[in-house]
Formats: sequence, structure tokens, C-alpha cells
Amino acid sequence: MVEFCPECSNLLRKRKDKDNSFLACKCGYQKEILSDNSKIESHVQKKKQALEKNLLIISEEDKISVHPKTKKNCPKCSNKEAETWQKQMRSADEPSTHFFRCTECKHTWRE
Ligand SMILES: [Zn+2]
Ligand SMILES: [Zn+2]
Repeated sequence: MVEFCPECSNLLRKRKDKDNSFLACKCGYQKEILSDNSKIESHVQKKKQALEKNLLIISEEDKISVHPKTKKNCPKCSNKEAETWQKQMRSADEPSTHFFRCTECKHTWRE
């Protein structure tokens, strides 16, 4: 692939750093090589799809109303038992949040 600089019409040379290859001119003009860009895009797309899949599975789990019970002091009443479950907030990169629901007064809170 031979390309010329649109700024000064010199021959562009192929350069490479860690992640990208690009065409560079001695005048300072740089152009990223598109094939590499589209690779990155499809990678991002894949990650997004995986994330949506994750969220779907979690919301399915949420429909199951019976959660395991654990010893936990309710902040509203003196009950010491609560249902517990975990929920992934926003993105899969973040730690999941613990939810609790008092078995007595049905107060729900999270940690
Ligand atoms: Zn140039
Ligand atoms: Zn309670």
C-alpha cells in the first residue's frame, strides 16, 4: 500500500506502535490504518453484546422470588433474618451489589 501525504505530497511510511499501525510523514502528518480500526470496533461490539447477554440473564434471575435467607439485622425492625441476592449494576466491570429484604417487614436495602 503506497499513500502520499495530503499535506506535503511526500511518501507516507508505515509505522507501528503497541496497538496501532499508522502511516506517518516526516512533516508530522499521521493517518491510522483503517483495517486495524475496524478490528477494534468489532471487538468493542462483541464486548457490548456479551454485556447485554449478562444483563438479560440477571433480570431472569430476578424474577425468581425465593432468595436464600441469611442472618442480617433489619435496619427498620428488630428482625435478624433477611433474604439476600446479588445484582449486577450498570456494567459487568463493577462489583455486584448485595440486596437484602427483611423477612418480617419486607424492608429492602442494599449494601
Ligand atoms: Zn507530509
Ligand atoms: Zn424488618
